[in-house]
Amino acid sequence: MTKRIVSCLLALLSAAILLCSCGSDTPSASSGQTAAENSVQEESKAEETTKETTKTTTATKATTKATTKQTTTTTATTACEHDWIPADCQNPETCSKCGETRGSRANHVWEEATCSQPKTCRVCGETVGSPRAHYFELATCTQPKTCRYCGATEGQPKGHNWKEATYDAPKTCTRCGATEGKKLSVSDNWKGSVGTSIPQSFTFTNYKGQIESEIKITKVSIEFKGNNYRDTGEMIIKISGTKTYDINGDGQSRSGKIGIKVYDSAGNVWKEYMFYTPSLTNGETFKDKEVSFVGVPHGSYVVKLLDVNTG
Ligand SMILES: [Zn+2]
Ligand SMILES: [Zn+2]
Ligand SMILES: [Zn+2]
Ligand SMILES: [Zn+2]
Repeated sequence: MTKRIVSCLLALLSAAILLCSCGSDTPSASSGQTAAENSVQEESKAEETTKETTKTTTATKATTKATTKQTTTTTATTACEHDWIPADCQNPETCSKCGETRGSRANHVWEEATCSQPKTCRVCGETVGSPRAHYFELATCTQPKTCRYCGATEGQPKGHNWKEATYDAPKTCTRCGATEGKKLSVSDNWKGSVGTSIPQSFTFTNYKGQIESEIKITKVSIEFKGNNYRDTGEMIIKISGTKTYDINGDGQSRSGKIGIKVYDSAGNVWKEYMFYTPSLTNGETFKDKEVSFVGVPHGSYVVKLLDVNTG
């Protein structure tokens, strides 16, 4: 019953469509056909149309089913708020929720080759070529031959090329300038002291046993000098004094003579020496007159002054 009504309605609808589609060419008012004829024609057309319409309806139903399916799919897609994982060299941009992808894969991210690794993709580990060669810097005093890039080493350091310490500089490497210890110190190597109380007068006695002259020593000092090329040094004794007596009186000018003895630290006489003052008359003075000994081994020394005679 319902089907019948639908068919009639569809027939009417089809008739109306047909009338419209041909209306421009054949208006019904001027066709000249009777209403009955029209009606019959219309009915037979309507029947055919109904068949087609039924087919169409069936098709429409199928389409509707498909559409419904599509709609379902579309609804699911729309529901995913995509969370895109950026593309990398392995995968395009990908939704972490639904797995949908878009675009294409990204390029590899290359790390330059190192001495131990070829050019390598940071992401996937793919490699190209072979590791680069080491770039060795020459060995130094303290470092073996060393790769500038990776620090790999070969062989041994050269070791320093030492020049012994001097009084001007500590032990020094002639290649790299490194130093070790302190420079030599005169005071570390030599010490000197005066073993005679000063001031004190010293006499020179001639072969007749007469005192010819007397010199009053007012000051004695001792210095040492190091030698950069020898272990031994120089001892410099500086003496100051005044002439206080001459057998021939105040007008007589002549050198005074004073004995000097140098003792080593064990008390041995290391040096003895006759010191001549400048030629002096009574009352004349001399200052820091030097007596010098070279080849003095490291050590402590005592300097004594003494009377002398020609006996
Ligand atoms: Zn998604
Ligand atoms: Zn890669
Ligand atoms: Zn290297
Ligand atoms: Zn060096």
